[in-house]
Amino acid sequence: MLLSDLPAPSRPRPEVKGSPRLICVSNRLPITVRVDHGRPSLVRSSGGLATALCDGHQKAGGVWIGWPGVTGSLDAPEFACVRETMAADRLVAVELSAADVKGYYEDFSNGVIWPLFHYLLDRVPVAEHGWRQYQRINEKFADVVASHYRAGDLVWVHDYHLMLVPRLLRQRIPDARIAFFLHIPFPSSEVFRILPWRTEILQGLLGADLIGLHTYGYVRHLAMAVLHILGVEPAVDCVRYQGRDIRLQARPVGIDAASFEALAATPEVRAEADAIRRASGGRRLLLGVDRLDYTKGLPRRLLAVERLLAQPEWRDRVRLIQVAIPTRDRVESYRGFKRTVEQFVGRVNGECGTVEALPVHYLYGTVPFPRLVALYLAADVMVVTPLRDGLNLVAKEFVASRVDDDGVLVLSEFAGSACELGEAVIVNPYDVDGMVTALDLALRMPAAERTMRMRALRARVSENTVERWVDGFARTLAETPRTACPPEHPLQPEALHRTLRPMLTARPLALVLDYDGTLVPIASTPNQAIPNQRLLRLLGQLADRPDTVVHIVSGRPRELLEAWFGALPIALWAEHGFWHRARNGTTWLAAAQELPDGWRRKVEPILEHFTAATPGSFIEFKSASMAWHYRLADDEVGTRAAHELRMLLGDALSNQPLEVREGKKVLEVRMRGVHKGFAIERMVSAADGPAAIIAAGDDASDEEMFAALPSGSAAIHVGEGCSRAAFWLSSSDDVREWLELILETDPRPLTGAAGPASTAEERPIGGRRDGGNRPPAGVAQPGITSSSQPDSDRTDHRGSPE
Ligand code: UDP
Repeated sequence: MLLSDLPAPSRPRPEVKGSPRLICVSNRLPITVRVDHGRPSLVRSSGGLATALCDGHQKAGGVWIGWPGVTGSLDAPEFACVRETMAADRLVAVELSAADVKGYYEDFSNGVIWPLFHYLLDRVPVAEHGWRQYQRINEKFADVVASHYRAGDLVWVHDYHLMLVPRLLRQRIPDARIAFFLHIPFPSSEVFRILPWRTEILQGLLGADLIGLHTYGYVRHLAMAVLHILGVEPAVDCVRYQGRDIRLQARPVGIDAASFEALAATPEVRAEADAIRRASGGRRLLLGVDRLDYTKGLPRRLLAVERLLAQPEWRDRVRLIQVAIPTRDRVESYRGFKRTVEQFVGRVNGECGTVEALPVHYLYGTVPFPRLVALYLAADVMVVTPLRDGLNLVAKEFVASRVDDDGVLVLSEFAGSACELGEAVIVNPYDVDGMVTALDLALRMPAAERTMRMRALRARVSENTVERWVDGFARTLAETPRTACPPEHPLQPEALHRTLRPMLTARPLALVLDYDGTLVPIASTPNQAIPNQRLLRLLGQLADRPDTVVHIVSGRPRELLEAWFGALPIALWAEHGFWHRARNGTTWLAAAQELPDGWRRKVEPILEHFTAATPGSFIEFKSASMAWHYRLADDEVGTRAAHELRMLLGDALSNQPLEVREGKKVLEVRMRGVHKGFAIERMVSAADGPAAIIAAGDDASDEEMFAALPSGSAAIHVGEGCSRAAFWLSSSDDVREWLELILETDPRPLTGAAGPASTAEERPIGGRRDGGNRPPAGVAQPGITSSSQPDSDRTDHRGSPE
């Protein structure tokens, strides 16, 4: 993009109203300042990060803060002009001197972090490391961000150059909402702890509220590093550090698939693809497109091509076009690597070339977008064989461009995208003979199989667009609870009651109550936490309050809620809001489609495998989800297995309509987007929606409910753990005591209710005007009878009265 292509400074692009501003922070701005013959221009930066984020910034409003490339050569008026032009695009420059760039960017970020995080330890230098400059420039970035920050902004810091910024920013703006995304792999904790500055870097990252990585494997590595280095035991997707909960999330970057598809469908690009194929003279076409980086595995790839060509059936019948995009060419190790690659190219061409044709067509430079798509479209086999790669966008771009549903992707198992692109031919890039076999397989693959694989790949790549990725991450950040740990002494029920008493006059009032852990203590197995009569009576009396609707919002299946509470005039929400039965209704309505059978078949064997390996764990089957409980398993064995399972499911389900959620000693695979917050949204949007909501819950699923509460509501967290709720009670006993207090102090007599002191004999369960505990027509008799149920104040864990 040239300077002249950017909008005029006098007409800045509008910010999106209504949602929080996004401050994007990355080492490089999505433009680079170039000076040709004394005339400055802005050029769009190349590389995965810039490509992925540019559109998101355009839509999200806010500012983008970063380094625009070396600017020392501009005089003051020229730089002022550049700065003004950038301001029109809401870009803010962090100015770096040549010495800054050398120490922070070249020596530390690219000299130490890059090779270490890609497991190339022999490339980590012995002497030069630039740590001091790295610290100083991270401070500088944090200062610039703080100076542009407005209350309510979301700050999104990107990548390995700025790993200290989240903490530095947290020190400057304690209540800022900060996310960090790492675009490269996070290595195994065994490798990460080699780093002399490992503690500072981890603490830097944990200044964020949300840390995003491409795969669950990387999330697990980070969690293990936190455990081994900081001694903090992480939950499956969350770390509690210094009184804050930091959420860890695997979310692979997507691409703008539509623009590749659209270009691939144009007659010009198709004609160019035909021309490329014709120029191959009937030879099958392999394609490589990589930055000329030592992580991309080019020497071994060229060796594999050489060995393939040594086979008589492929000699002179295969051609490789290798695009090598210039990168970091000021760094000596990169210049040395370029020489190595070019020697390999010369060797293969020398060994396998003929007078008519050379097998490797090596292009050192960038290619225009339409030509890139034409190359993708022309290739028989796309070869993506990095030794390590955070994700690899080229693999996805190739897939998106194949509107003909043809072509084969050969993909390194060490690229993050391999977790999503399972229909590719997956290879170990260190195994040269294995790559030869994979190339042979790809070249011989029948058309029907190529089409089948490519269709599946394309569907996934077009689904997970970069727009969805940016929106999803920003939304997760906005929804991430501003957690605070409970105070030393949670509220006593009387104190809570006094505080919330003014809300009780709201008409209508909604009392929204989680069940397990809130109304009853957590039991060892889900079937043991049966409500006793006293609780049922209490709920019935609350439901009798004038203009009061009691909602139970639970993860439990609807059959169980119906059996337990079906006779009460209360609204029921089962499976975290997937099923709903209205207060006076008898019919259960589903919010979305049930978990498709295909997914059950895919998930069930994985859960069964973990159940077999983890004594005491078991699977619970529901309509829209499957839950793996490990409460009865040995603590350490269960937690370790849950980490493994989380990682496996995360990889297996990434970018599918399913998500994995963590509860108390339970992992649940469920339809994406159906959670307790959804139940709140439906309550609020109903025609007779409540004037005020008081909600109580104890675990992560209830945090989603609290997040969706409209202003003026009250949220009560029960038990230990951090929460976004404003109020804490210490146990389900206290919850019930507080609910009793609501009844006791009610100013008006309750219709049909005998008050909290009444017994089951004095008053029918529920207090329905139709006589109480008769189940609705067509519904099984509730599993509660006055003679068989324990009437103790606590639910019996073992199924017998206390
Ligand atoms: N690319 C480019 N110039 C070219 C050819 C490709 O900028 O001449 C783009 C390519 O389309 C892709 C990016 O460079 O979007 C490379 O991203 P990838 O994730 O594959 O590797 P990274 O460079 O991030 O290591």
